[in-house]
Parts: sequence; C-alpha cells; structure tokens
Amino acid sequence: MSNLSVTMLGTGSPKPNLERSGPAQVITIVDMPILVDCGEGTVRQLMSAGYSPADIEYLCFTHLHSDHVFGYAHFLLGGWSLGRNKLTVIGPKGTKRFHQKVLEMFEEDIAYRTGDLGIPSDGLTDVNIIELEDEGGSVISGTPANITTIPVIHNVKTFAFRFEVDSKSIVISGDTAPIDSLVEFAKEADILIQDAAINSSSIGTNSQDENLKNIWSKLQLEHCTPAQAAEIASKAGVKKMVMTHFLPSANEEKVSQEASAIFKGEVIVGEDLQRISVAE
Ligand SMILES: [Zn+2]
Ligand SMILES: [Zn+2]
Repeated sequence: MSNLSVTMLGTGSPKPNLERSGPAQVITIVDMPILVDCGEGTVRQLMSAGYSPADIEYLCFTHLHSDHVFGYAHFLLGGWSLGRNKLTVIGPKGTKRFHQKVLEMFEEDIAYRTGDLGIPSDGLTDVNIIELEDEGGSVISGTPANITTIPVIHNVKTFAFRFEVDSKSIVISGDTAPIDSLVEFAKEADILIQDAAINSSSIGTNSQDENLKNIWSKLQLEHCTPAQAAEIASKAGVKKMVMTHFLPSANEEKVSQEASAIFKGEVIVGEDLQRISVAE
C-alpha cells in the first residue's frame, strides 16, 4: 500500500446534504492520519472509513467557516472520550479562540467528566494549538510529512496546505477563488484536492432574483468553477485532481466534463469515503 493517501470524508458545502457530509478529509502518511477540516458528520465519516477518532492526533483547519468546523466539538470531546490524550490543532489566527469557546460551551459537561468521573483531562484541556502567520509558511508539526501553507483568496483568512513525504505530495486548495500562487504551490503534486464549488447548475446564473444574483456574484470571488479548478491543475502539472465542496444541486457528470475538457490528467469528482492513494 502507498505511503501517502487521502480519504475524502465530506465533499459537501454549507448546505446540508445526505449524500455529502460537511467538508473534511484525512491524509494518511505511512500509518499516521492527519485530519484536514472538520465539517458536520466528520466523526461518523472517520469511523465509516475505518479510523478511530482517538487515533487522530493532528487536525489542520484551512479556515474557520462554519461548514469546515461544525464537527469540531464532537471530534474534540468524542475522540478524547475514546482515549485520545494528545491533540495538535493547526489553523489560522482565531483557532485558539474558537477552541476556547468550544471548551467554554461544554464547561459543565467537561467538569463532570474530569471531576466526578475522574477522567484525566489530557488531550482536552491541553490541546496544542498552532496559529499560522497570515503569510503562511511551513508548520513545525512533529509529523512525518513536511507541511507547508500559503494564503488563498476567500472571504476570511484561508490557507492551502501541502503535505510532502519522500518527494510525494498532496495539496489541498482550501476554499478559494483562482489564484496564481496556488498554481506554484501545487506544482507537480501527485494529488490536488481542489475547491470546485461553483457549478452552472448550482444557483441561478440567469436568475431574476436579486438576492440570488448577489450570492452568485459573491461566490465567484471566493470559490472555483470546475473549469477554473482544471486550469489550476493543468498549469500546476499535477497528476490527479479531486474536486470537492459540492452544493446539493451539483451535476457530477457536467462537473467532470467541464474539468476534463481542460485538465488532461486524472479528473476525480470527489465522493464521500473515497480513498485515493499516491502511486508508489
Ligand atoms: Zn469557506
Ligand atoms: Zn466551505
């Protein structure tokens, strides 16, 4: 089996969708899993994919939008209740505050478990939070992978992540509009997990509804279409591109056709629980 793989845990968006869980994926390096984003349903998806949440000791947040963090409280407390006693969380500025708020929200619950039940609080109240500098850079992580980040274009501070081990690499774009620095950053990656949230069937391009039109024009400044995703993959010369972050209305066939017309490498329309390995 390959030393480096990614399992798509959630390929959805902020809109609840039975077929697509909230945004999350797990990168596995040799046998170390690293969770990237933690959308709604992540704990269940991890378990369905054969991972115990207790075994995930590293979590990277691309950004702190609700759809990428909805599952965090469950992951934090659930993983700890299964025996995890250490955790490192890497994310943009604001990650410490977010984590602290979650602890505060469950203050009484945590006091009961650590006090009355006597469960050691290691892995819960001593989480190692690494906040990324705005310009990105490399993350000193203690994992076998070399982890680097760059800022991308979204409406809150958002980072793309590159995981590299033995000259094999997986890049995750994060939520982003097209940006040249991502092309450089993803150069010759084996796998690029790419935001392709905007699709022609998503919300009315030609809608008369002013509100929808407004949302549509905003989305174009914050996400990619499959064609834009393909252009990034093509210019970067990656081997495989896995598109993700789909709205419930996405038409997978169209998404695939639109991307395949531009990118000549392997095009994958991401599906929940799909595992993709880097070739040896
Ligand atoms: Zn976002
Ligand atoms: Zn998102």
